[in-house]
Amino acid sequence: MKRITLILALLMLITTPVYAVQKTEEKIHFIDVGQADCTLVESNGMYMLIDGGEEDDGEPIIKYLKDNGVDKLTYIIATHPHADHIGGIDDVIDSFVTENVIMPKVSATTYCFERMINSIARSKAKVIEPVQGAVYTLGDFTFTILGPKHYDSDDLNNDSVAIKLVNKNDSFIFTGDAQTEEENDIIDSGIDISADVLKVGHHGSHSSTSDAFLNKVAPEYAVISVGEDNSYGHPAPSTMEKLNNRNIKIYRTDIHDTVTAVSTGNGITFTENSVGGGARQSSAAVGGSVRTAQTYILNKNSMKFHKDTCVYGKKTSPTNKLVYTGYADTIKALGYTPCKVCNP
Ligand SMILES: [Zn+2]
Ligand SMILES: [Zn+2]
Repeated sequence: MKRITLILALLMLITTPVYAVQKTEEKIHFIDVGQADCTLVESNGMYMLIDGGEEDDGEPIIKYLKDNGVDKLTYIIATHPHADHIGGIDDVIDSFVTENVIMPKVSATTYCFERMINSIARSKAKVIEPVQGAVYTLGDFTFTILGPKHYDSDDLNNDSVAIKLVNKNDSFIFTGDAQTEEENDIIDSGIDISADVLKVGHHGSHSSTSDAFLNKVAPEYAVISVGEDNSYGHPAPSTMEKLNNRNIKIYRTDIHDTVTAVSTGNGITFTENSVGGGARQSSAAVGGSVRTAQTYILNKNSMKFHKDTCVYGKKTSPTNKLVYTGYADTIKALGYTPCKVCNP
């Protein structure tokens, strides 16, 4: 009897300190919403949503948030008023107590913008206009507003709220659909934008992710939120080439579905196709035949494309060569024809 008591006491001594240092998770969910954007950031039971997918993504996003224990959103960042970023935000605000909405001071004459504004008005949320350099906290995270520095009347994409999110030694950059112009403003701010993870701007469009910007961020990982077989040809082969040339590990929501990143403050671990699934089931999963992305070699001069094992592909001169990981029909949609030898 005494021995059991002693063992129990010892066990308690061993286990108690474990409870005392129990750590909450700092986690980022890049939610699969097809050709749109939606990211959930969580720390210590506090949550921030960056963008809210397309108009018909509201319901699935709400389900994803509930499945992941969200009860209240401390921040929503509505990066810019395009439908693929704010489409589902009205439904989210109507479903969760939302404390703050950070959004650029620009408007759009679209139904989705009007609906978002009406939802904000119905809620008790405070609207915050982004100011470059302003710093906010979310649990163990801090985030700094990188842009917009000023508003671009010609292109709402350049009005995107951009942030650097930091948990001790781990850092993430989000730029919405910022184009090279806004990226340059961010570089000019002198704010340290080096980061471990870059959420690639504008779904991987060729008009974002300039070499100058990429060199400053110098990420180890890149995440691209993009729809399967989208009509925009996103991500652009040129963007993929820039990332591949720098040996950046790439995660894509069209291939990996929802991607989550856990940050310890001293390292980041990625998980693909997270539990709870994406907000939108990929058509590949629905159809039962899962397509896997392949790596292809594209020749910008001949407009032909090859399997990466093809001898003709390998012979392509470096100036004409693009390396692209994705689907053959996406490449065909960009105007490339398949090599008759390797038949990609
Ligand atoms: Zn946009
Ligand atoms: Zn977009």
